[in-house]
Amino acid sequence: MIRTQVAIVGAGPAGLVLSHLLHLDGIESVVVESRSRAYVEERVRAGVLESGTVDLLREAGVGERLSSEGLVHHGIALRFNGRSKRIDFPELTDGKSVVVYGQQEVVKDLIEARLHARGAIFFEAQDVAVSGIDGDRPTVTFRDVEGRHEEIVCDFVAGCDGFHGICRSLIPAHVLRTFERVYPFSWLGILARTAPVSHELIYANHERGFGLYSARSETISRLYIQCRPDEDLAEWPDERVWDELRIRLEGEDAPDLVPGPVLQKGITPMRSFVAEPMQYGRLFLAGDSAHIVPPTGAKGMNLAIADVRVLARALTRYYATGSSESIDRYSQTCLRRVWKTERFSWWMTSMLHRYDPSSDVDFDDRLQMAELDYVTSSRAAARTLAENYVGLPLEA
Ligand SMILES: Cc1cc2nc3c(=O)[nH]c(=O)nc-3n(C[C@H](O)[C@H](O)[C@H](O)COP(=O)(O)OP(=O)(O)OC[C@H]3O[C@@H](n4cnc5c(N)ncnc54)[C@H](O)[C@@H]3O)c2cc1C
Repeated sequence: MIRTQVAIVGAGPAGLVLSHLLHLDGIESVVVESRSRAYVEERVRAGVLESGTVDLLREAGVGERLSSEGLVHHGIALRFNGRSKRIDFPELTDGKSVVVYGQQEVVKDLIEARLHARGAIFFEAQDVAVSGIDGDRPTVTFRDVEGRHEEIVCDFVAGCDGFHGICRSLIPAHVLRTFERVYPFSWLGILARTAPVSHELIYANHERGFGLYSARSETISRLYIQCRPDEDLAEWPDERVWDELRIRLEGEDAPDLVPGPVLQKGITPMRSFVAEPMQYGRLFLAGDSAHIVPPTGAKGMNLAIADVRVLARALTRYYATGSSESIDRYSQTCLRRVWKTERFSWWMTSMLHRYDPSSDVDFDDRLQMAELDYVTSSRAAARTLAENYVGLPLEA
């Protein structure tokens, strides 16, 4: 039997940042992860870090590689009617910017820091189960990599186990309320070995659907096209993907795409989802286990990290003073940011995708063009986009 203060289910960005922040405040935790270390360290997902996320990681002592290898982006391009219009972040947000640094790199840095500090992470845990969240001694059980039965007895459980995890379902049905929007399109994405053709992200609204160009490093690019949710990847050989990307990004100042070897190809569904409340008894949900945003606003990982910052502070206060005031308000505090982020991600998605690319241009498409024209010509509107993209201020 293992005794700890906080048992954390899931070693994604939420679980690892939480474990690290708690450690800095002298609070013990144990992380239980169903995948292998290699798997979580190679899982390519998000890549845009808000300025507040960058500050948090640096202040927590895990920003060294992020500072040397991350690419600072001072803006994005919105592309429509065959032209790009730039949104300048520092100019619109009093000097703020974002940093492009892969989620898998953030995860590597955090695992390294936790293991260096002799933190406990059980990888490849099977049959993970949580019980007793109604009482004051919750328990997490699992079989470790050798098949041995393990039991963690703790004060609190953090459900950082992503959208398909087990923790959200522990909140009784009569307490849990969920809100969901599933979009009628997905993203077909490739990770390719090719030098950047634009330093900044290009978001394109094209009559055939959305397209996105992003450079992940000096040699790797990530590109996406809007596709059908039931799209068959087998119908998308690399050449067809590059051809379609060229079409979606076409126009007078089109980036000169240079096709390179495709390292990964996959389809990402687009969904908005929120679970309320984000806590029940001694269980706290954080990150994707509680909410999902479509990736258009580049917010998923940032929101997960914002949640656990609130949770770490609340737990620190609880252990320091015995007051449960902050932990009792955890859900309420997080949901304010969650819903603002849901709004922004939905808005970016709605402005940039064609809801029915097979139909003629209609009223909604004209409204999208008006919106894009407004956002790129009005300082007030551009500022709204910029302040959300670089990240709203974190809770004081
Ligand atoms: C394919 C894909 C592409 C994405 N692209 C972007 C993007 O471009 N931009 C963006 O901002 N966001 C993107 N996201 C979203 C972003 O990656 C997530 O918001 C982020 O990973 C959330 O972190 P998390 O720690 O909450 O969850 P996760 O990263 O999902 O971590 C949860 C962890 O829990 C583990 N786990 C699950 N069940 C159990 C269990 N029963 N027991 C133990 N462990 C368990 C999982 O293996 C995982 O390691 C993408 C997501 C996906 C799936």
